Amino acid sequence: MEHVKYLVLGGGISGLAFANAAQGRDCLVLEKDREAGGYCKTKIEGDFVWDYAGHFFHFKTERWKNFFLSKIKESDLVHQEKCTKILYRGKLIDYPFQMNIHQLEKDEFIDCLYDLFSKTEKDDYDNFSDMLYGKFGKSIVEKFLRPYNEKLYAVDLTALDKDAMGRFFPYANKEQIVLNMKKAKNTSYNDTFLYPKRGAGFFVALLKNALPEGVVRTGSEVCRADVSKKTVTLRDGSEISYDYLINTAPLNHFLPLTGREDCLGVARNLSYNKVLVFNLGYDRPANLTSEHWIYVPDKQVNFYRVGFYNHILGKKNASLYIEIGYPKNGVVDEKAQLRDTLENLVKTGIMDKDARLIASQTILMDPAYVHINADTDRAIRLLFEELNRENVFSIGRYGAWTYCSMEDCMIMASDLYQKLSQ
Ligand SMILES: Cc1cc2nc3c(=O)[nH]c(=O)nc-3n(C[C@H](O)[C@H](O)[C@H](O)COP(=O)(O)OP(=O)(O)OC[C@H]3O[C@@H](n4cnc5c(N)ncnc54)[C@H](O)[C@@H]3O)c2cc1C
Repeated sequence: MEHVKYLVLGGGISGLAFANAAQGRDCLVLEKDREAGGYCKTKIEGDFVWDYAGHFFHFKTERWKNFFLSKIKESDLVHQEKCTKILYRGKLIDYPFQMNIHQLEKDEFIDCLYDLFSKTEKDDYDNFSDMLYGKFGKSIVEKFLRPYNEKLYAVDLTALDKDAMGRFFPYANKEQIVLNMKKAKNTSYNDTFLYPKRGAGFFVALLKNALPEGVVRTGSEVCRADVSKKTVTLRDGSEISYDYLINTAPLNHFLPLTGREDCLGVARNLSYNKVLVFNLGYDRPANLTSEHWIYVPDKQVNFYRVGFYNHILGKKNASLYIEIGYPKNGVVDEKAQLRDTLENLVKTGIMDKDARLIASQTILMDPAYVHINADTDRAIRLLFEELNRENVFSIGRYGAWTYCSMEDCMIMASDLYQKLSQ
């Protein structure tokens, strides 16, 4: 039987980063798809460069940033200062909503301000919804934070942990909100970002190409993982044994592969959404000129976010990505959603009605956003302690079941290699 020290399940950014940290030594990455990259793949169609929804790099540390910058020509990159807006009642206002209530009509602004100052202060919050009401007051929540996040997460917000979005949530206190009215300071974790002109998949190709031949095996789906025998079985029936198993596949797919009762129990309780993505290429520009993406809280509109690759890449014709949230068991009707999307793009004034769609692509991200809640989180951490004792480690956004960026995934991967190799 083939044997390897580090067997990595999944060739997305986490799996490839782990293999890079190991410099490919004693390491095999098994990827079920024909192509590595996971959610960081890019498809180029004519002049349109499309990812699996926008995938931008907001580096906060030097290690992985330097890895990429040393391998990519400056002329192949764009550096952007984020320009994002909220489409609210036909008007574009700056993001985040809570920091820009002064841009609303006077009555709505007064409602938001009044509720912000008259809300009941609390020391702690029961859940995400409770936190939103407690920190921002009824009007800010009900005009934007609730409808937008319900569209995105496709779940009742009381089911999410108060800290479900971690550092990605744009917190703001009363003082910051008031000061922002005079001097805009809409800072967030993703103020600036890097993007390769050939898409996020280009970065991932650099990760893959830095590895010795044969370390990444595509078209290799793991169907069973016997964690006590330290072997995995592939779809073709072959078996591979390992010293360490590093899982990066979504936990809801991976845990059942072990057949263990404790794993199955945790897998059953995992909650998450899925996101239907349309990439749309038009024969002319959109009616907006500079926004990188816009947030759409209106529940009459099927999508919660629309992005503009052409604004990021400095191209003329509209190259859009559309994101639509679904509950985990929601039935996806792609045809109806595409029809509604095209209509809504016209109704919202983003596209002219005679603009011609000349290319499109549909992707289903399943899972997309994991629903963080304290009980599942505790159960996962306890299970991981058990699995770690068997030399099984689960990392990445979906392997660790967390809300994190591509860079966080790479950091998680290199930290794990560091720990295991010592
Ligand atoms: C809508 C959306 C927008 C996002 N935008 C950004 C952004 O702008 N910036 C950012 O930093 N992050 C963004 N992210 C997050 C980013 O996509 C993830 O953090 C990252 O792609 C996770 O990579 P991964 O390798 O951990 O997982 P994945 O990319 O899911 O890779 C896991 C791999 O495992 C493989 N696999 C699964 N099962 C098996 C099996 N049985 N056998 C073998 N292989 C298997 C899969 O095919 C896949 O290739 C976004 C996420 C979403 C949902």
